[in-house]
Amino acid sequence: MDVIGAVAPLRDLVAAARRAGERVGFVPTMGALHPGHAGLIEQARLDCGSVVVSIFVNPLQFDRPDDLQHYPRTIQADLDLCAALGVDVVFAPDVSEMYPVPLSCTIDVGRMASHLCGRHRPGHFAGVATVVMKLLQIVQPDRAYFGEKDAQQLAVVRRLVRDFNVPVRIEAVATVRDRDGLAFSSRNQRLNPAERRLATVLYRALLEARRQIAEGATDPERVTRTAAALVPPDERLRLDYLELVDPDDMQPVGRIDRRVLAAGALWVGSTRLIDNVICNPSATLSDPQL
Ligand code: AMP
Repeated sequence: MDVIGAVAPLRDLVAAARRAGERVGFVPTMGALHPGHAGLIEQARLDCGSVVVSIFVNPLQFDRPDDLQHYPRTIQADLDLCAALGVDVVFAPDVSEMYPVPLSCTIDVGRMASHLCGRHRPGHFAGVATVVMKLLQIVQPDRAYFGEKDAQQLAVVRRLVRDFNVPVRIEAVATVRDRDGLAFSSRNQRLNPAERRLATVLYRALLEARRQIAEGATDPERVTRTAAALVPPDERLRLDYLELVDPDDMQPVGRIDRRVLAAGALWVGSTRLIDNVICNPSATLSDPQL
């Protein structure tokens, strides 16, 4: 496995793989890798002859300096996991390689960011879109893999690629969860054992929204209110949002008459966690309930 910090040699390696006739798969990450990331890498490994993983904690997408400062960094364990999963190249640039001069051009994602995390984290998706665009230009993969766990990010990336004709196929990978339903996240590392137990309530609230919708509920306000009521009064818990949106444009729905995304963000102590589930009005309740 090659571990590369600079753009030029990374491009040389990818060009060589492509000349050898390999399909290039790319998995962008911020490191602190967990089974969710492994799910993306495994899918890329199945689909592609050459797999590139990037590890870069992108300062542009952090709206709070302390979140950036405390973001977990576990580079040696990350490299070990990548090697075990058969990754060909890890691209791990430092900030000066990615942003040698302050950017003049950035990407405005418009109304894709007007709800959910976009509303609660000013500038976050402009930062995501900008770094994803840079990484796609640097790696120039055939396919790029993103997790459904970050559904708004996935929707933004799909629009980015469409709006700018970026020649890459975006592949969505299902959310990987721990045994109690909590979605794996690098930020879970920051939870103490009591907070870790409390954190599962977010997924349970989203499943409650899904249950109501499957049973015929059509009023978004009512669904979100009863789902949010599952979050117990506890000084360590604060629901940032729980919304029902259209899965493509991330806009709130006025009435539930088609597939909707139930998405939530929950503060657990000083850690903010996000999760989402797709809700189908005609779905049967076959998914595991907590
Ligand atoms: P991050 O390192 O948090 O920026 O995430 C890198 C990629 O991994 C993103 O496409 C995420 O959506 C994806 N990802 C993170 N957690 C999970 C998870 N639990 N299941 C599936 N994909 C995930």
